[in-house]
Amino acid sequence: MTEQPLTDGFGRRHRDLRVSLTDRCSLRCTYCMPEQGVPWLAKPTLLSTEELLRLVAMAVDLGVTEVRLTGGEPLLRRDLVDVVAGIAAMTGDDGPVEVSMTTNALGLDRVADDLRAAGLARVNISLDTLRPDTFRELARRDRLDDTLRGVRAAAEAGFHPVKLNTVLLRGVNDQEAVDLLAFALEHGYQLRFIEQMPLDAGHTWTRHGMVTGEEILDRLRTAHRLQPVPTRGSAPAELFLVDGGPETVGVIASVTAPFCGACDRLRLTADGQLRTCLFATGETDLRTPLRAGAGDEALQRLVTSALAGKRAGHDIDDPAFLQPPRPMSAIGG
Ligand code: SAM
Ligand code: SF4
Repeated sequence: MTEQPLTDGFGRRHRDLRVSLTDRCSLRCTYCMPEQGVPWLAKPTLLSTEELLRLVAMAVDLGVTEVRLTGGEPLLRRDLVDVVAGIAAMTGDDGPVEVSMTTNALGLDRVADDLRAAGLARVNISLDTLRPDTFRELARRDRLDDTLRGVRAAAEAGFHPVKLNTVLLRGVNDQEAVDLLAFALEHGYQLRFIEQMPLDAGHTWTRHGMVTGEEILDRLRTAHRLQPVPTRGSAPAELFLVDGGPETVGVIASVTAPFCGACDRLRLTADGQLRTCLFATGETDLRTPLRAGAGDEALQRLVTSALAGKRAGHDIDDPAFLQPPRPMSAIGG
């Protein structure tokens, strides 16, 4: 292998691996999953704990230094604590691999301490509303209280700072930007708004329907002074000091201000497919060769050749843009 095998054709060095642990979920957020008729991944195709850890270790050997667990809902995976412990025990180019998780927090109160003890470094929790009726409409489940309990549990278990992710939908929760920020400031959570991307299972996304990063900032500016924090690096969130700081709020404008030029991410789906982009329409099957007995070098060659074909950007604005066949819940956000 070359010295930096995870460098693509545009000079982007990849260090961040997003691992989807399951395509199942305890919620049905409208921007992500359909209400019914989800085409679940077939059970035998799902990676076992051992298979998953083997693929992650192979990626770490290639230069991955950070692993984010996602889904679907990672908390639905029974071996979650073992997966965290297994990855946290790996050593990459920069020392121990950093493991984080994106979650809807349902049931987090039951495992937050175990996850922390297993080596989970950070959690990002999706919280789109503070209103029970809006939660029911948006996530199609009546679980706001459980979500908030999970958020509190994360803070109590010592995850600091707890990051909150919010997707604003026009006419649904877009009037809550200021309230959500007030909630985050009051509790010391770090809030980041994410532009809705065309990744919903129903393919209903429209550019007009999306609340843009600029609109989000306009809404926040009705109540706060925002000042951009310089240096974005490969981090997708643009950060703003709120009322002079030190608290910040983030905006991830994936659609209107893409950060593809600094992308350092690879994705592994729960059924062992490697994706070089959220929006890729193609994938590289690692599960079949893994189960056929392929060695690490053969698997690594598959990864590096997939990366060589990574495109410069997501091209959402191109009229020829095609939404990937997998919904976000099966890709891993
Ligand atoms: N279930 C977990 C959760 O909701 O945090 C992890 C998986 S979820 C797919 C990961 C992130 O993707 C969440 O923050 C969610 O809000 C975001 N997401 C899902 N669909 C999206 C979409 N169409 N556009 C933008 N963000 C989306
Ligand atoms: Fe589930 Fe997360 Fe998708 Fe909501 S965004 S349906 S919580 S996977």
